[in-house]
Amino acid sequence: MIRKLIRRVFLRGEPAGRKAETIAVAKHGIRRDQVSRGACRTCEALQKAGHRAYVVGGAVRDLIAGIPPKDYDIATDATPEEVRGLFRRSRIIGRRFQIVHVMQGPETLEVSTFRAAHDEETLKDEHGRILRDNVWGSIEEDAARRDFTMNALYYDPTAQVVLDFHKGVQDIQRKTLRMIGDPRARYREDPVRMLRAVRLSAKLGLRLDPQVQAPIRNMADLIENVPAARLFDEMLKLLFSGHAVECLKRLRDEGLHHGLLPLLDVILEQPLGEKFVLLALANTDARIRANKPVSPGFLFATLLWHEVLANWEKRQKDGARPVPAMFGAMDEVLDLQGEKLAITKRIAADIKDIWLLQPRFEKRSGHAPLRLIEQPRFRAAWDFLLLRAESGEAPQELVDWWNKFQDADHDTRERMMLPDTGKKRRRSRGRGRKAAAEPTGSVDAP
Ligand code: ATP
Ligand code: MG
Repeated sequence: MIRKLIRRVFLRGEPAGRKAETIAVAKHGIRRDQVSRGACRTCEALQKAGHRAYVVGGAVRDLIAGIPPKDYDIATDATPEEVRGLFRRSRIIGRRFQIVHVMQGPETLEVSTFRAAHDEETLKDEHGRILRDNVWGSIEEDAARRDFTMNALYYDPTAQVVLDFHKGVQDIQRKTLRMIGDPRARYREDPVRMLRAVRLSAKLGLRLDPQVQAPIRNMADLIENVPAARLFDEMLKLLFSGHAVECLKRLRDEGLHHGLLPLLDVILEQPLGEKFVLLALANTDARIRANKPVSPGFLFATLLWHEVLANWEKRQKDGARPVPAMFGAMDEVLDLQGEKLAITKRIAADIKDIWLLQPRFEKRSGHAPLRLIEQPRFRAAWDFLLLRAESGEAPQELVDWWNKFQDADHDTRERMMLPDTGKKRRRSRGRGRKAAAEPTGSVDAP
């Protein structure tokens, strides 16, 4: 409390950042019943305790743009400890950027305290990237630190007004993504903002303000300094935005895809690989828009598949046996990826499962097909095979056979399974197929 008082007295008279324009319902168009109950309740409880509290950021932007927000952030002048004290179901999380998770029914709200502007004392790395960020400030300062004008809007559900510090409402209406401050300096502080610019423009169909767009090509390499775990989170947001195809297209247009997924530029330059990746992304977009579940393992398996195929083929040409060659290829591709993008261990295991099951679809003799169907990851592997066939990399005939096999009763299955004569017969069946897709032996999952 005393700290808050000192802060207020201290800050009065020199408010950093701009004064807000107060925008009424008639202009912002947000109806209170569009705002989540949890967000309204959290703001009300904070306000009742004498604090300022607003819905902020992406949720306000999306509501004004007519898109249902995917989550809600709350900004307040209460410190994390004060917030924690007001809500029984809440906890303080984060170190570099401390926030409070407040649980309201099934919702989790992210409540953050207004942050102060950065100064010489802000802890940064040698490239100017901000490392620690827990100095509290005024709402004006908090607004000035946000990335884009349309992300610096504060909605008060009680008064039903929007505080607009940087003409963000106008930019939403004009469909232009504008940066607060000098874009070059803002990218240097946090290179992830380049990715955010692309993602938001794809999601909301915005054009990039020329000043936002121009520096990206030259500054793209700064992405390399971003910790791999943060980059992975950002990549997931991008790929699961429901607009992944558009995001990737725009990333490529801006020259941003290179550092991101080290292999993506290679993939996108191979005709088969590109078709496969685009099909996979379109498939993910459709699932997300239909509210169906998606798995990161599956998507990353598709993004990297053609690299694994090429690597696997090369190893076999160099004389390695198919099984060790496959394991070697998987590890090499994932390790290379891991240097830039920290794919979590669990997701990496999912990816490998899906890859390892692919050659097993070719084994249609003996009891191999029955054993394959019983694999826990069979569904994902099957969906993966469908995409491979659609892109022309796996034979349609294989898909037709498995379709029939899965629907068949026991006797039909027995008749369908080819006699167990080993390699000779399989080789004759595989003629004419793309060499990389064709295993010369069987690969069994571990
Ligand atoms: P969405 O949730 O739709 O992906 P968002 O803009 O809400 O988009 P979040 O990551 O949820 O993105 O961030 C919430 C808010 O925090 C943003 O609207 C913005 O005001 C601020 N913010 C997020 N990341 C940054 C950043 N890198 N630099 C400055 N401000 C940021
Ligand atoms: Mg958000």
